[in-house]
Amino acid sequence: MSSAINIFWFRRDLRLHDNHGLYQALQAGRPLLPVFIFDPLILSRLEADDRRVPFIYSALEAMRNQLLALGAPIEVFHAEPLAAFADLLKRYKIGAVYTNGDYEPYAQERDAAVAQLLSLNGIPLHTFKDQVLFEKSEVTKDDGKPYLVYTPFYKKWYARLLAEGIPSFPSENAFPYFYKGPQLRWPTLAEMGFSEPLSPLEVPVPSAQLLRNYHDHRDLPAVAGTTRLGVHLRFGTVSVRQLLSQAMLHSETFVKELCWREFFMQILWHFPSVDRAFKPEYDRIAWRDDEEGFNRWRAGTTGYPLVDAGMRELAQTGFMHNRVRMVAASFLCKHLLIDWRWGEAWFAEKLMDFELSANNGNWQWVAGCGCDAAPYFRVFNPALQAKRFDPDNAYIRRWVPEWDTDAYPAPIVDHKTATARCIGAYKKALDRTGQGNLFP
Ligand SMILES: Cc1cc2nc3c(=O)[nH]c(=O)nc-3n(C[C@H](O)[C@H](O)[C@H](O)COP(=O)(O)OP(=O)(O)OC[C@H]3O[C@@H](n4cnc5c(N)ncnc54)[C@H](O)[C@@H]3O)c2cc1C
Repeated sequence: MSSAINIFWFRRDLRLHDNHGLYQALQAGRPLLPVFIFDPLILSRLEADDRRVPFIYSALEAMRNQLLALGAPIEVFHAEPLAAFADLLKRYKIGAVYTNGDYEPYAQERDAAVAQLLSLNGIPLHTFKDQVLFEKSEVTKDDGKPYLVYTPFYKKWYARLLAEGIPSFPSENAFPYFYKGPQLRWPTLAEMGFSEPLSPLEVPVPSAQLLRNYHDHRDLPAVAGTTRLGVHLRFGTVSVRQLLSQAMLHSETFVKELCWREFFMQILWHFPSVDRAFKPEYDRIAWRDDEEGFNRWRAGTTGYPLVDAGMRELAQTGFMHNRVRMVAASFLCKHLLIDWRWGEAWFAEKLMDFELSANNGNWQWVAGCGCDAAPYFRVFNPALQAKRFDPDNAYIRRWVPEWDTDAYPAPIVDHKTATARCIGAYKKALDRTGQGNLFP
């Protein structure tokens, strides 16, 4: 073996610019080989037409194209991470491995196992903070406990941001330090079991005008008033630091949304038991095992046009507007009284921007059982929501062209009756005497 190299392990930070871990790795004094691992454990849970795997593949290709001129390869594995590192250990003399932190429970386990394998070989795993501005316990209450309510978290998070500024890590200026070698063959999408076609990576750049109008437009699903950067934040094809720096110039509301993302990430870090209601008493709700209702919700045929438009947008594009996510999610767990975990799982399967922390946090917010949740008795009226946020029915018309014809189904439940049923079921669960009289 020739002289030692370092490895940079890409995971949810698929960009060459302003990448903290990559920046540190490129400074470390040894040629740097970038690596990505398609983990069969994760892929095996996805459908063949999943859109996220081709997205990741396109992001990798975009980086490969950037590095091509330098003769610098990226190695891509389709293997269990431990097996991929065992292979790298056989083929290279490795000085150190660099990566950016990942806070999800599975990632924690995986990283611990890889760190152990590396340490048995005398190799350190260096991990950096990249996907958030503040991680883990960096923003806590004065007594060191995690915040469970968003607004005080935001205040402290923002004060710290102002005090410390937003750092930058210009990894793009250190390209000469990449390892030079032949580009090895990558597993193809088809070989990994995926059928969606590959399209070139396109990263939307939010204009100053979009950010300035964000506060007024973000709730209107017919208007292109949000950034559509969710999937890019998820996989790191944008730098959250650069996005925040831009947002600070134009929109406090947008900065607050990015802080919601970090709020839910710190909640997940401190409370990783995501399959239980954050407020345990909500797990006493007698959810209805209504397969038929669930199927109609998924298919977008509930007879409530705003809900149906959202569910169809999700199925056809992998995206749903935030306002409509709230209405559709509320409809499932309140009007249909179906366990929020069913809906959470469906969103996890379909959303391009699926993020465990944000999906679980928002579903629990809607269901009323989250740490800083909407009060359970506030039940969205889908018809009023449509009137307010889609007054010309432009969004509904786009996704449910038959909505005002006889072909469109009658409402699956009556709003008033369903709301009363929901409030009754919640009251019963939350009233420790079981008499339903806690909230007269
Ligand atoms: C039931 C439900 C499930 C959701 N599941 C997810 C999910 O799996 N992944 C996800 O990223 N967001 C989720 N959201 C939050 C929000 O709907 C999306 O972040 C947003 O619609 C993405 O579109 P955008 O990029 O155009 O957002 P923009 O409005 O442009 O916002 C910019 C970014 O801020 C962050 N953000 C905005 N709102 C929220 C929020 N409420 N919670 C956390 N982060 C937020 C996201 O990273 C988003 O991309 C969910 C919301 C609900 C109600």
